[in-house]
Amino acid sequence: MSALRELYQEVILDHNRKPRNFRTLPAANRRAEGNNPLCGDRIALDLDVAEGVIRDVGFQGTGCAISRAAASLMTASIRGKTEAEAEKLFDGFRRMLTGDGSEAGIGPGLGVFAGVREFPARIKCATLPWHTLHAALAGKPEPVSTE
Ligand code: ZN
Repeated sequence: MSALRELYQEVILDHNRKPRNFRTLPAANRRAEGNNPLCGDRIALDLDVAEGVIRDVGFQGTGCAISRAAASLMTASIRGKTEAEAEKLFDGFRRMLTGDGSEAGIGPGLGVFAGVREFPARIKCATLPWHTLHAALAGKPEPVSTE
């Protein structure tokens, strides 16, 4: 298990160092900001949504390795998905971290965050990008805060 854990940490560190989709989207038609004051994580998420499908996604922000890696892996998992599918992935992610721990409904690669479950203070770091996604899809104008 410890080797597996190290592998998971490698993935998180890699996404922190080289976050995927770390850019603004000039064509974005949905946008939201999220804030996790407990840790200092901030994220701005851009989506290009057409006919209910997330055609493109980008994020900017500062924060800890968990939040950056979570945002990076989230963007990779939601591109090309419908809004409903993306919300389902959020449900699955939340269930893994704060529900019964099942990894059944999560997106590919997102199991690397299963260990975060054991660190309640970091759960908000991992779910911040998803809360921000939810706000962007819902068209909420005010920034999301985990507090
Ligand atoms: Zn954090």
